[in-house]
Amino acid sequence: MKARFGSKCCSCGELIKAGKEILKDSQERWVHKHCADVPLDLP
Ligand SMILES: [Zn+2]
Repeated sequence: MKARFGSKCCSCGELIKAGKEILKDSQERWVHKHCADVPLDLP
């Protein structure tokens, strides 16, 4: 999903800007889509 507001990525520590694609990781924390450790888009 897209971030509705700015946040901080728990994986890389960088800011997540509103409108960026984000996911919850395996520990239910919001991270950048490219930082998530759970591949949700497997076929
Ligand atoms: Zn990140």
